[in-house]
Formats: sequence, C-alpha cells, structure tokens
Amino acid sequence: MLRQTLHRLSESSTAERVITRAPISRHMVSRFVAGSTLAEALDVAEALNSAGLSVSLDYLGEAVSSREEVAQATGMAITCLEGIAERELSANVSLKPTQLGLALDEELCLQGVAAILERARALGDGEGEIFVRLDMESSDYVERTIVLVERLWEMGYRNVGTVLQSYLHRTPEDVERLNALGSRVRLVKGAYKEPEQVAYQDKAKVDEMFIREMEMLLRDGTYPAIATHDEAMIDAGRRYAFEHGIDKSSFEYQMLYGVRRDFQARLREEGYNVRVYVPFGDSWYPYLMRRLAERPANLMFMASSVMAESPLRKIASPLAIGVGAVAGAIGALSWRRNGR
Ligand SMILES: Cc1cc2nc3c(=O)[nH]c(=O)nc-3n(C[C@H](O)[C@H](O)[C@H](O)COP(=O)(O)OP(=O)(O)OC[C@H]3O[C@@H](n4cnc5c(N)ncnc54)[C@H](O)[C@@H]3O)c2cc1C
Repeated sequence: MLRQTLHRLSESSTAERVITRAPISRHMVSRFVAGSTLAEALDVAEALNSAGLSVSLDYLGEAVSSREEVAQATGMAITCLEGIAERELSANVSLKPTQLGLALDEELCLQGVAAILERARALGDGEGEIFVRLDMESSDYVERTIVLVERLWEMGYRNVGTVLQSYLHRTPEDVERLNALGSRVRLVKGAYKEPEQVAYQDKAKVDEMFIREMEMLLRDGTYPAIATHDEAMIDAGRRYAFEHGIDKSSFEYQMLYGVRRDFQARLREEGYNVRVYVPFGDSWYPYLMRRLAERPANLMFMASSVMAESPLRKIASPLAIGVGAVAGAIGALSWRRNGR
C-alpha cells in the first residue's frame, strides 16, 4: 500500500510542490543525488573512478512540454560529455527520452539524440566513442524508445543503447530484438507502476524473468549491463558467467549512487566491471520517490537524518525517528507482501 502511495506521489505535482519547497528536502535527497550542479557530479564521478568504479551521469528531469526545454536538456547532455572528456573520466551518460522530447515530437527527439551522439563520438578518446544510454521509462514509451535506438543505428551510430525491464511481459522478445541489432542493453527489474496487462506484479516472477533475460544477454548480447542491488540476481549472473566461460570483462554490473555501496566495492574487488549511476540536478523529485517506492524502509533513514539537522531536533527527533520507524516497518512489510 505504501509503495503504491509513493508511486502516486511521484506523479503528483501538488506533492512535488510541497515536498521540494520544504527546507529539509535537500538533506533528504543527498543520499541518492550527487548534487545540483554538473561540477559536483563530476567531483563525485572522479572519486568513484578513484575507487575503480565507472560512472553513468544522469541529469535529472523527465517529460518536457516545450521545444526550449528539449534544447536545454540536449545542451546539458553535451555539456556533460564535455565535462567527462575534459576530466578524462571513465564515464558515460544516461538520458531520459521524454526529457529530450520523445512525448512531444519524435523527430525532434531523434535529431537531439543524434546531435548528442555526434558530440560523444568526437569527444571519445583512443578507446572509443563515449557511450550514451537511453533510460527506459513507463510502458507507454518502450516501443518508441526501442524504435529510436533502431533508427539511430540505421543512421550509423553505434554508441547508443537502452534499457529493458524484466517486469514487462514483452521483454524476452525485446532482448532478442536488441541482441540481433547488436546494441548494448542494461537489464533492470523496472521502476514504474505498471498495470497487470503489461507487467508481472509478483516479485518472484519478475526475478525469474530477470534471470532468464540476463542469461540471454550474457549469452548473445553485446556488453550487457546487469543493473540490480539484489544479491540473488548478482549471484545468478556470476554463476552463469563462470559456468559458461563468459569473461568478466564482457559485461558489467550497475548500481545506483548511494545504494548498496558494500556490493559495489566487493564486486570491484572480485574483478567485475562496476558502473555507478550518478544522478544530479534540481529535478530530483520523481527520481527520489521511485527510490522510496523501491524500498519504503528508506523513509526511516530519511526521517532520522532529516530531523538530526532540524532546529527542533531535541523534541522532534525522537518523534520523527518513531514515525520513520513505523513508516519504514509498514513499508518493509507491505513491500514484502506486495512483491516488488
Ligand atoms: C544502474 C541502474 C539504472 C536503472 N535504470 C532504470 C531505467 O532506465 N528504467 C527503470 O524502469 N528502472 C531503472 N532502474 C531501477 C530498477 O528498475 C529497480 O527499480 C531498482 O534497481 C530496484 O530493483 P533491484 O533490482 O535493486 O531489486 P529489488 O528486488 O527492488 O531490491 C533488492 C535489494 O536491493 C536493495 N535495494 C533496492 N532498491 C533500493 C533502494 N532504493 N535503496 C536501498 N536499497 C535498495 C535492498 O536491499 C533490496 O533488498 C535502474 C537501476 C539501476 C541499478
């Protein structure tokens, strides 16, 4: 129930206005968001690189409603690429297609992404072009995003790929489709609230499909990314690769900034490629709400860390921790009961 509420809140502009204006919000987001400026995100990327982790930078934002906003997001993606090249980072970028106008005008979006890919090509070092990942959004955009990748491939770009979500019924065919194309795929479980007509609702089924699709990608895909914090999925990937003689260098694990840093470090120590998804910018609201919906127990962490800085902490802190604990416990219970 709490997960559904958080998913609903992620789409509510009223809740967004209230929560983003609260003076405590910045503290709340800092666990999952690397900063509001590109310079801050590049600093974080540099630190992660020093620890042996590569990065995908994500300038936060979702569906836009004007051409000016598309131009601004396209410009920001190019500035990110330039920052990566200037600091010689081991990093690429992740982009939301609707932020680049997919819902507004598909041709405009295609042209914008092509301009970004052109710049990513030119800025690439001796090891190749900078890679650009198109994140996958809600099911309304899946077909359009895959077609976008296919059209970009027809135009000759090879430094672009997308994401597939194991909760969608259609994904096995999409894995085959993108394996045949040769583009890189990031596999995730899926972060949006989807109806049962298009998506599995049961966590066990989503996990089963994740393993099946991960194996298809490891076997026949091009440098796939296994993006999860789920130890069982990570272990299944490791086992499958080992048993089938698939080299560690031919795929990567990906995790979100601020989530399971212990796994990130451990996998790297074991010699796997690990990439951290690093979001930055001021439009953090829907992103943060999806992270809370994935793990409502995070509410407890947030409530306690927020109140630790509040001027009213002496009286409010125990109360907030109590409320957070209850919210977290309800969240964890409803999360387990309702599946993912
Ligand atoms: C690099 C990356 C890129 C992504 N890109 C997309 C995308 O383009 N489109 C899309 O729909 N989704 C995307 N996602 C989100 C994804 O779909 C899942 O919602 C998210 O990864 C949680 O699922 P999980 O595989 O970690 O497993 P779950 O079964 O949700 O969680 C397994 C375990 O991971 C830990 N965990 C999971 N989430 C959190 C969290 N938020 N905070 C703390 N601990 C947590 C918990 O310990 C939990 O027990 C991305 C995820 C990653 C890692």
